[in-house]
Amino acid sequence: ATPMALLVATDRGARLGIFLLGHRALEAAHAVDVVVLDKTGTVTDGRMAVVDATTSVEVSPLDVARWAGAVEARADHPLATALVALARATTGELPPVEGAVTRAGLGARGRVDGEVVTVGSARLLAAEGVAVPADIAACTAAWERDGHTTVLVGRGDAAVGAFALADGVAPGAADAVAALHALGVRTVLLTGDHEAAARRVADVVGVDEVIAGVTPDEKAAVIDRLRDDGCSVAMVGDGVNDAPALARADLGLAVGSGTDVAIGAADMVLLRDRLDVVPAALGLARATRRTIR
Ligand code: ADP
Ligand code: MG
Repeated sequence: ATPMALLVATDRGARLGIFLLGHRALEAAHAVDVVVLDKTGTVTDGRMAVVDATTSVEVSPLDVARWAGAVEARADHPLATALVALARATTGELPPVEGAVTRAGLGARGRVDGEVVTVGSARLLAAEGVAVPADIAACTAAWERDGHTTVLVGRGDAAVGAFALADGVAPGAADAVAALHALGVRTVLLTGDHEAAARRVADVVGVDEVIAGVTPDEKAAVIDRLRDDGCSVAMVGDGVNDAPALARADLGLAVGSGTDVAIGAADMVLLRDRLDVVPAALGLARATRRTIR
């Protein structure tokens, strides 16, 4: 684009609530025919709340909340925020953690009260060699059938509890998806969460396709696959777990309230956290392209 056209587009974008991070954004956006949407914090509002909990008989539920909150204290994820809030509300001060690590798209780990605590998905616990007792597994399976997101809490080599969490669909999400379809764009919901939770959201907002249970690297591989098929792909995401996919898409759009890592990997930032800006952004790019030709 010419500098003038770019300047005009940047100004129009800002008024729509889009911040353009470079000229690549407009070049790429006019041709987009598939929009891939992250679920948690992008299509949902990211205000996760704990809706149910279970703990094994040998531990105190308050301790499970403390351990989970402590390990999550530095994680930048809606699930972590909810678990930290629960721990603070029920137990006050969080205990100190040694060697805390966050694993994007999986959970977090660290030593609390003399034991390693693992907080995250079934996939994380399996990878870390933490066994899940049958009663806890039955509980999380039932929650997942209800479309809730689940988080397991392991202490040492066994799970001692689990939480069910839920969030709402973001304002304007269904309208945004309908507007994308009206532009002739295919939509895909892409998430590290499990299939039933993804379906619940997909049904509300009306996306064409669901790909669930994927790691951050697998999210990026989905983008690569779509591009190999000849699609021009926009990815919309908010989290550290979305950064590889945002970087690999033809056009990466980060939710403004999202993590710095996501914004750093994106070409555009959605300033108002509203998805209806996505079809507006594609429309803007198409219009700008017409004026410069
Ligand atoms: P999404 O793709 O919907 O944004 P993520 O890839 O961030 O979801 O997470 C996928 C799954 O990994 C979550 O549903 C949860 O089970 C687990 N997980 C990710 N981050 C955390 C965390 N900080 N604490 C606990 N569990 C987590
Ligand atoms: Mg997310």
